[in-house]
Amino acid sequence: MKSCDRAIENWLHLDFKGVIPSKRKLLKWIEFFADCGFSGIIFELDCRYAWKTWEKAATPLFFEKDIAEILDKCREFGLKTAPLIQIHGHLEWILKNEPYARLKEADHVNELCPNHPDTGALIKLWIDEAASLFPDAEIIHLGADETWNLGTCPKCLMEISKDPAKGKMGVYIKHAAAMCRHAVAKGLRPVIWADMFWREKCCELASLLPKETILSDWQYTGKAPFKSTAELKKSGLDVWGASSARCAWYEHFHQAEQIPAQRLENVLSWNRWSAKNQSSVIHTTWGRPGNMWNLYPPWHGQLPVFIAAGNDEKWKNHHWRKFFDKLSGAMLRCWPHELEKIIADIKKLECRNEMERESLRWRELGLRYNLMEKERHLRITGDKCAAVTMKYTGRDEAMYNRYFVAAAEKEPDALKQWKIEVSKFWADNELSDLSEFLEERESVFN
Ligand SMILES: [Zn+2]
Repeated sequence: MKSCDRAIENWLHLDFKGVIPSKRKLLKWIEFFADCGFSGIIFELDCRYAWKTWEKAATPLFFEKDIAEILDKCREFGLKTAPLIQIHGHLEWILKNEPYARLKEADHVNELCPNHPDTGALIKLWIDEAASLFPDAEIIHLGADETWNLGTCPKCLMEISKDPAKGKMGVYIKHAAAMCRHAVAKGLRPVIWADMFWREKCCELASLLPKETILSDWQYTGKAPFKSTAELKKSGLDVWGASSARCAWYEHFHQAEQIPAQRLENVLSWNRWSAKNQSSVIHTTWGRPGNMWNLYPPWHGQLPVFIAAGNDEKWKNHHWRKFFDKLSGAMLRCWPHELEKIIADIKKLECRNEMERESLRWRELGLRYNLMEKERHLRITGDKCAAVTMKYTGRDEAMYNRYFVAAAEKEPDALKQWKIEVSKFWADNELSDLSEFLEERESVFN
């Protein structure tokens, strides 16, 4: 086992399945992340790396020499590095391809069957590949979250029937423990997401994993501490916290930016928990809700959250902080007139470096989209209601034209201009997936 210092670590997780910058721009981001104060970066390369284990399954943007260069940069700036792969669920990008479809749990594309005869060997091979790609790593994150279809195929059901006391978690633990042991044998401490234990109300069963295993308790809504963390600690394993610097829920299909206060609250609470409990945390940055779901916006919008996650004090004293409190309130209420005012005010904010300038540039574009989407929603629902009201009271034609007809006429031009400016932002910042991002946002207006 490589030496693993016991100091509290403050990790940033980057998910590559969403919008990501070019290698050239990523190297700049790494400088920024180091400056934020993170101790290391966990890279979830997902389908963006040409994994030899999963030949032809990925849509790679990064290759071996790129990763080596990225890791060199991290080393230069004092950032630790570690890989995150998935040993069980969230493997749609692999299992949707014919050569690997045989590994699916029943007919579910999101997760593999731990009892398929090829599963263990292939995942071990992937752990080996990830370990050699990240030679400085002391930990390896093995994912293992959200295995929604656990124990549904005939082979797994048969196994469950032999040990009904553990139920389907018996299947989960047997596989996770074997993969954790493989990582330990390679000198790496395995980390797994802990949600399956609290979902299935069996946190004590985590004690069946190798003692070196770290449970990471992701809780992205609200403020730490969470009951689940205390429950997981009863397993005797190390438990880390996990916030989300970027994720979304109901709003993720139809918005281009998210409310910063919700992310800041979550991230800062986990940092407070970390200091109080002398435990490490991972601040996650998701690219999509899942492999086969829509793109989240680029990292630029999360600049305040990255700063806060890296160092609470830095955000507390940041020259944007008060404005972002106001902005979050406006986004939460989502009143068009208030959003219009905030969008105008963004342009007056001071930018102290290029990263801040691009962050505000994106924030303005993101909010303009949210405003357009809100106005469209109000117009369409309002028009339907006005048609009913007219039957009872008649209609003020001038007002009707202003709120429904003229507003509808303005929309295509506003959307067209937005797309032009977003395309320019993407080009300047060398970002991936422009077509998909634009099409997904435009689909709401079709
Ligand atoms: Zn199975």
